[in-house]
Amino acid sequence: MANPLYEAMPTTVFAVMSGLAREHGAINLGQGYPDEPGPLAIRQKAADATLNGDNQYPPTFGLPELRQAVAAHYARFQGLDLDWASEVTITSGGTEALAAAFLGLIAPGDEVVLFQPLYDSYAPMVRRAGGVPRLVRLEPPHWRFDRAMLEAAFTPRTRLVVLNNPLNPTATVCPDEDLALLAAFCVAHDAVAVCDEVWEHVVFDGRAHRPLIAYPGMRERTVKIGSAGKMFALTGWKIGFLCAAPKLTAVLAKAHQFLTFTTAPNLQAAVAWGLENSADWFAAMPGDLARSRDRLTEALRREGFGVLPSQGTYFLNIDLAASGVREDDRSFCLRSVTEAGVAAIPVSAFYEEAPVTSIARLCFSKRDETLDEGARRLAKARDLSLRAHNAGR
Ligand code: GLN
Repeated sequence: MANPLYEAMPTTVFAVMSGLAREHGAINLGQGYPDEPGPLAIRQKAADATLNGDNQYPPTFGLPELRQAVAAHYARFQGLDLDWASEVTITSGGTEALAAAFLGLIAPGDEVVLFQPLYDSYAPMVRRAGGVPRLVRLEPPHWRFDRAMLEAAFTPRTRLVVLNNPLNPTATVCPDEDLALLAAFCVAHDAVAVCDEVWEHVVFDGRAHRPLIAYPGMRERTVKIGSAGKMFALTGWKIGFLCAAPKLTAVLAKAHQFLTFTTAPNLQAAVAWGLENSADWFAAMPGDLARSRDRLTEALRREGFGVLPSQGTYFLNIDLAASGVREDDRSFCLRSVTEAGVAAIPVSAFYEEAPVTSIARLCFSKRDETLDEGARRLAKARDLSLRAHNAGR
C-alpha cells in the first residue's frame, strides 16, 4: 500500500520532543527556534506585502527582487559572484532546497557521502531519490573528518557529498583545512557538494563563514543552501535559497517546480527587504546569541554538567557521561521532558548507524530566565536518573 521507506520512517525527533514538551508543560530546549519574535521591521514588511502587495503565484524561481538581494548579500558577506538570474532559486525553506538537490542530482545507484551526525532528513531523502548513503562517522569532542575517513567513503560511484557547515547538532564550524581537503576530494572524484549552510550567520567569537563553493575547483560543482529563517530568527517562514552554477540550477529548478512550485510572495518580499536593510541585525545577532550560549554554559557548569564548546548554531551539547548521567541520551531526554519538565534532543537521533549515545543537544536561543530554569531542571533530571539507576530500574 505504501512506499516502504516512508512506512518504516519514524516521526522526526524534533516533532516528537516538541509534542512531549507541550503535553508535559515542559521548557523546550529541544527543537531549535528562538523565543524572540524576530526583527519587527521585517515582520512589518511582510504584513504590508500581505495587505497591499500581490498575493498570487510568484515566479517559480522566486521574486526577482529576492533573488537579486540574495546574490548581493552573498557578494557582501562572502565575496561570492552569483548571477541572480541563472544561479539563485528561492525554495520553501532549507529542507525543500535539500530535497530538490537530492531529487534533481541523484540517479539510482549513485553513492552519496554523508557525515554523521546528520540532520534527519538527509538519509531518507537521499534513499528516496535512489542514492546509496556512504556514511562518515564523526565523534566528540572534535567531530572532525580526516583524509583516511574520506578515502574510505569516496568511490568511483560517488556522485554527491553533503556537508552541513556549521554543523547541527555538534555546533562546530568546519576548519579551513578540512574544507580544503573535502574540496580536493570532490574535484578528484568529479563529485558535486551539496552544502547546507543554513547556520552561516550564526557563528560566534568573531568567526567568519567560509563557503565551500569558494574553494578551488568548487564554483561549478557546489550547491549552496541558505535560509532566511535562520538568518533572521524567523524559523517558521520557510524561505530557502538554492545557489549553484547555471547548469546545476537548471535541474534544481525543475525539481523545485514540482515540489512546491513557488513560495509565499509576501514573505519573499519581506526577506528581500530584510537582506538589504539589516546590517545592524547581522552585526548584533551573533553576539546576542553568544551571550545566551555563555549564560546556559555557566548555569550548566555550576550544576556540574560537562559542556562541549559551541562555535555556531543555536545549540550546545552536554556530555552526559562526563556529567554523571548513567543512562543513554534517549532515555535521559525522555526522562527530562516527562519527569523534570525540560526538553532536549538526543544526539543519537542524528546517526544512521553506530550512534554516539552520550550527548544531549540544548537550544540556547531563549530568554535568560528560561535558560536558568532549564539548567535547574536538567540537574533535577540527572538526580532522578541517578536515583532510578541506583534502584536498578
Ligand atoms: N532545524 C531544527 C533543529 O535542528 C528543526 C527543524 C524541524 O523541526 N524541522 O532543531
